[in-house]
Amino acid sequence: MVVLHLHTNTARLHTATVEYNHRLKPGLFLLALLNTELATQSLPAQFLTIKVGDTHSPLLRRPFSIFNASKIAGMAPRVEILYKVAGQATRIMSHLKAGDQVSILGPLGKPYPTEGGSPLLIGGGTGIASLHFLARRFLDKRIVPKILFGARTEDELIPLPELGRAEIHLTTEDGTVGFAGDVVTLAKEHLPGAHDAVYACGPREMLSALKEVIPSNLPCFL
Ligand SMILES: Cc1cc2nc3c(=O)[nH]c(=O)nc-3n(C[C@H](O)[C@H](O)[C@H](O)COP(=O)(O)OP(=O)(O)OC[C@H]3O[C@@H](n4cnc5c(N)ncnc54)[C@H](O)[C@@H]3O)c2cc1C
Repeated sequence: MVVLHLHTNTARLHTATVEYNHRLKPGLFLLALLNTELATQSLPAQFLTIKVGDTHSPLLRRPFSIFNASKIAGMAPRVEILYKVAGQATRIMSHLKAGDQVSILGPLGKPYPTEGGSPLLIGGGTGIASLHFLARRFLDKRIVPKILFGARTEDELIPLPELGRAEIHLTTEDGTVGFAGDVVTLAKEHLPGAHDAVYACGPREMLSALKEVIPSNLPCFL
């Protein structure tokens, strides 16, 4: 059962200041942007579109899922973006430094609902970004999500240190870490389980294959 849900959009233009832009692995960065409104209003499954630089090239904003949004007492309110260097805009982003400013339109997209008590989260590649934010929100509610996270190789697995309390199962297609195979094959082993909802994000082919294996009576948010 694929569930549609409505949301009142709060998207608008923002200017955010870079707090840090950490290189986690070759070609993979975690960008923290300081902006109180975005940190307060962003919800899991939403994304931001970012315009880098002041010139017409790159002209278009680029979309990125919200990896985390936090407004913690004593800390600056921030949103985090996990991004892979793919082309022109992400190459420019990889040179952003603390104090630089970027233009953001967001938050965009329909958030995931976070009802239920036994969620199964299934992520492929950078699709784990929005599930990371969702998992944080479940953990804040003292609900421990089960996460299946797959990548092609160990090099493409994204570190998830802030989800230490979640039940995480890793898979790599070349078998370098965790289950050897793709995340849909791993999902078959965990379905049906005692889950009351499935949340998934990843490449289009992964989501199509996943739709075939999720029981039709299980609420599923893709
Ligand atoms: C809703 C949404 C959320 C996203 N969230 C994230 C995220 O959290 N982290 C992240 O790293 N990326 C994410 N992406 C993809 C990201 O937007 C692109 O990687 C980015 O726009 C590339 O811009 P660029 O100028 O660097 O590369 P471009 O010069 O635009 O493209 C470089 C190369 O990457 C390919 N490419 C560009 N965009 C995509 C894409 N969406 N899928 C597959 N291939 C693509 C192009 O065909 C080209 O070959 C998301 C995309 C969408 C639509």
